[in-house]
Amino acid sequence: MMMQTIPRTGGWVEVVCGPMFSGKSEELLRRLTRAAIANQRVELVRPASDTRHDGDELVTHAGRRMTAHRSSDLEWIRELDVEVLGLDEIQFFPDGILDVVDDMAGRGVRVVCSGLDMDYRRRPWPVIQTLLSRAEFIDKLQAVCLCCGGPATLSQRLEADGSPAPAAGSTIEIGAGERYEARCRACHEVS
Ligand SMILES: [Zn+2]
Repeated sequence: MMMQTIPRTGGWVEVVCGPMFSGKSEELLRRLTRAAIANQRVELVRPASDTRHDGDELVTHAGRRMTAHRSSDLEWIRELDVEVLGLDEIQFFPDGILDVVDDMAGRGVRVVCSGLDMDYRRRPWPVIQTLLSRAEFIDKLQAVCLCCGGPATLSQRLEADGSPAPAAGSTIEIGAGERYEARCRACHEVS
């Protein structure tokens, strides 16, 4: 990340966004791990609705792992005694997370958020849309397009038969037979 000027006082907000399979959680954990090595008080929280991993660990596609609380209790998050807070899958927290992030950065916490910037229809997630405007530092990661091998910035949702998912489908649908892959702008399809 290009961070030539680090705020000298107070906290700040970093956002790591991009499509699925772009390594967002990997980058989040890399930053938190470095802070932990520097003996800073670090906590990682993922939304209560994120049931992809069992237990209290976040494990990335690349196998990096870190202890993670699973909670969407905003008041509990706000009271965490941390120097660095990581929030994974920020788009799945309630809207009130925006105020929590602001409050914590205001009292000196470095808040690192990772999440999807757009849903499979290429529509921005409201929470991260506002967060991207407010954040001091933003990194948009790319995956690799499974169709053409170019840089992929979009999440392609596919039906069980491999056809593009319809725009009328529900936004959050996990384990319902559909699957996702990374695609570029030219290869991305919504039926
Ligand atoms: Zn492509």
